[in-house]
Amino acid sequence: KEEEANYRKDLGEPATSPDGLEIELLANIELATEVDGALTNGARGVGLYRTEFLFLACDPELPTEKTHFETYCQIAEKLKDEVVTIRTLDLGGEKFFNRTFVREKEINPVMGVRGVRLCLMRKDIFRTQLRAILRAAHKYKNIRIMFPLISGVREWRTTRDFLQEVMEELRSEGIPFEENPSLGVMIEVPSAAMVADLLAEEVDFFSIGTNDLIQYFLAIDRANDDVSYLYDPLHPGFVRLLSQVIAAAQKKGIDVSCCGEMASSPIYACLLILLGLRKLSMNPSSLPIIHHMIRVMDFTRMGKLINDPAKVPTGPDTRAAFLKAFRELL
Ligand code: PEP
Ligand code: MG
Repeated sequence: KEEEANYRKDLGEPATSPDGLEIELLANIELATEVDGALTNGARGVGLYRTEFLFLACDPELPTEKTHFETYCQIAEKLKDEVVTIRTLDLGGEKFFNRTFVREKEINPVMGVRGVRLCLMRKDIFRTQLRAILRAAHKYKNIRIMFPLISGVREWRTTRDFLQEVMEELRSEGIPFEENPSLGVMIEVPSAAMVADLLAEEVDFFSIGTNDLIQYFLAIDRANDDVSYLYDPLHPGFVRLLSQVIAAAQKKGIDVSCCGEMASSPIYACLLILLGLRKLSMNPSSLPIIHHMIRVMDFTRMGKLINDPAKVPTGPDTRAAFLKAFRELL
């Protein structure tokens, strides 16, 4: 508790490292009620709003367009000028808790109808949500839209075309909506990560969803304890994949952040920063420690102390190197 109080002391200060790296810290939220706590913990906006929880709250009904709209406006209003990244419905896989969506059992649900695939199958539900977001984004300019589980350019274009269709509908009904919203994709399917350069040509931002990206890249079910010892964010293959995505975004000059759990662990956050990320989104409760880590960490010296994690053969060796360097520097 004492340590936590210590971390919180300078929460109002920017998350800038002693060697001058400026990092933007954002919050992942599941409910509108979390916004105040996120701001108190120093969040500079919402990097991921998991809207599936709005569906859960309305279960067994579906949220109406009004419910969607009012919830999004409430969040955007509280955040004032700070960004709010609304992720469209990401149900399916291990997240099938909504009775409205009871579907036939899939043999391999994590690779089945989930995320944007489910939305494109249930366009009625997708349309309602998109209409509400577009309307809310007209009223609150800090709203941006993010799509989950995009596997590549083809699926992105299908999604974007559907969004255009929804805009056309609103236009023909004379309902005001944001004509030019900021549109981004989660990078959480390995195929999307591999074509990040192509996707970067067509979207405004990326958010790297390491929870799913690790699961799919390393073939490790993120919910299976028996194989969790292999769920390794420091696997050199995964580090290479991350570098590639970050480099692709930087080359095109689009915004890139990480909203997976990796961002909330000091060692992994440190790796993400060393790989070039300057924006991290995490559970509000993790913000103080990551903020503190950034304010005391000399990343230039850290980079010199550890061997390139993309070239160290095993993740545990990289972890040991980070721990040793942390002890030396902090
Ligand atoms: C992720 O996959 O890393 C992510 C942030 O999305 P979720 O945990 O909601 O699947
Ligand atoms: Mg995910």
